[in-house]
Amino acid sequence: MTSRIGQPELLKEINRAHVFEILRRERIVSRPGLAELTGLSRATVSLLVDSLLQVGIVQEAGFGASSGGRPPVLLEFKPDAVHALGARMRDYQWSVFLTDLDARPLDRESIEIPGSGAEAAADALARAVDALLQRNQSQRILPALGVGSPGLVDMRTGVIQSATDVGWFEVPLKQMLESRIGLEVYVANRSKVGALGERWRGAGTGTEDLIYISIGTGVAAGIIHRGELYIGSNSSAGELGHVTIEPHGPLCPCGNRGCLQQLVSDPAIAGRTRERLRRTQQGPLFERYGAQPEALGAAAVFAAAEEGDELAVEVLDEAAEHLAVAIGNLINLFNPEMIVLGGQAGAGSELFAEMLRTKVRKRAMAYALSAVTITTGRLGPDAAAVGAAVLVLQHAPELLFGEQANAIAQ
Ligand SMILES: [Zn+2]
Repeated sequence: MTSRIGQPELLKEINRAHVFEILRRERIVSRPGLAELTGLSRATVSLLVDSLLQVGIVQEAGFGASSGGRPPVLLEFKPDAVHALGARMRDYQWSVFLTDLDARPLDRESIEIPGSGAEAAADALARAVDALLQRNQSQRILPALGVGSPGLVDMRTGVIQSATDVGWFEVPLKQMLESRIGLEVYVANRSKVGALGERWRGAGTGTEDLIYISIGTGVAAGIIHRGELYIGSNSSAGELGHVTIEPHGPLCPCGNRGCLQQLVSDPAIAGRTRERLRRTQQGPLFERYGAQPEALGAAAVFAAAEEGDELAVEVLDEAAEHLAVAIGNLINLFNPEMIVLGGQAGAGSELFAEMLRTKVRKRAMAYALSAVTITTGRLGPDAAAVGAAVLVLQHAPELLFGEQANAIAQ
């Protein structure tokens, strides 16, 4: 890409994005107030505000307090003026959300993916997006779609490098979706966008440094640093499931031994429980699943533990011991304000969160610990779809005013 530094259009784009962000944060602010907060001249602010008024994402709302002269006109941010689309894939199902400019979900569409192929998945998502757009024809929608997908994603190209649980390798998902739906598509790993979801609308609202840990078929983290997603040099930061916990532990599909997700993921938790049931041959879980152990999933283990089942509590305690090592390392390395637990089975388990709090206290340094809260997620599986819409919202000003502005659905 050729450099555009020094080009006036680019400068205008950057300034407009800045003004847009301040308006979103402040909600009501005057033009002189915006000039002060952005460091831009009043003339520049006035021009930019005119364009925002024109697209309707701000409106004039009375007068502010006078500082001597004429009282300034107040500008009010209108989160409902334009909407964004975000989708996430889980268990061969897509959920697509339509959100407002604050990432608040307004409508949703879910669709099953027939089979495990990437083509079928792209087709299904295109159908779901189409259904949602049809139903919301009267709304203005940013011409883009954010996608939270499984696997290791190159966020620059939107190519899924590998998603072992669905058997996808080198899948150009961005390109496949753009050709089907005619919108710009941003693809990221679903745990990374889950972090954005919890930061914008969930447990982490108002925090600047947050780490979201999703426990499901694997384990992955989304790292938010100064309010932004930290993705690393080739967007693979956050592969927490593959940090080594037991150097000689069980073999992982990544080729390493003793990876965290071989010890803590949903399949690992269910597997350890089955192993113990085979040995003990007793207790409520054995009575229920003894005859068909393959039906036992991690959700049943979390539920049993919450009811005080001794064996389930032991399994979770062991898992928490391993996860606490990883979380302690994260706290020492990143000094976050908040660790949010997400995923399917254990996301809402206060018992598991408490086990972790106790064990992490023995692992992380006291000073870093004093700054961090460990909590369960508030959005559950919705976190990734909300966060996928945030991928679009982060581009809202350029989508509103850029080359594609004409394509905005009216
Ligand atoms: Zn591994």
